[in-house]
Amino acid sequence: MKILQCWDDGVVSDARLVDLLRRHGAKATFSLNPGLYQNNRSFGWLSEGREIWRLGLQELPAVYQGFEICSHSMTHPYLTDLDGSRLDWEIRASRDLLEQLFSRPVTGFCYPFNAYNDPVLSAVRSAGYHWGRGKREGLHRFPPVDPLEFSPTCRVLDPEFWRKYEGAKKTGGGFFFWGHSYELSTEALWDDFERRIERISSDGDTEWSFIGDLFEPPLMPI
Ligand SMILES: [Zn+2]
Repeated sequence: MKILQCWDDGVVSDARLVDLLRRHGAKATFSLNPGLYQNNRSFGWLSEGREIWRLGLQELPAVYQGFEICSHSMTHPYLTDLDGSRLDWEIRASRDLLEQLFSRPVTGFCYPFNAYNDPVLSAVRSAGYHWGRGKREGLHRFPPVDPLEFSPTCRVLDPEFWRKYEGAKKTGGGFFFWGHSYELSTEALWDDFERRIERISSDGDTEWSFIGDLFEPPLMPI
């Protein structure tokens, strides 16, 4: 079974996350908003009283070396509130900037706030993205009905994580979780997460995959 994971927003705790993932040979996809970075690390927002900081533009290529990058739009707006050239800019210019920054193709899109509708889907489609992360969590299937709505199995902190993992092994189609590294807000959560990654990496029935690799034609069963 293929295992996929996707992390959003490009925050400072991603640097700790990628170290952990590298230790265990785990692949992962990171969704970034290239229009929100400053050269150095910068304050982003407060989450339950904690300051969340963004990584600096200069360090992005090194931090995410060896991992897949996808666009999370330019500035993380509700895309459903936008249209025309502003919508198009969020979707296309973000990819162009990421491709420039990382010197490689960017083929996936994650909708900010998981918010999208038909006009957003058609803008992402016409921009030529191969896949988008869908919002119908729990309705994960591969291949998806629409590659631009490739929905995850669950969130990283889902209490039913292992039950869903074992269920996915029985039914096939892969196991796909997502989250934000700042959700790992305590040492206990980091420890627990590292044990999950260890267990998945040592499971002989599974294999880590980048999401984009699934959507290179022709699509293969996973
Ligand atoms: Zn986000």
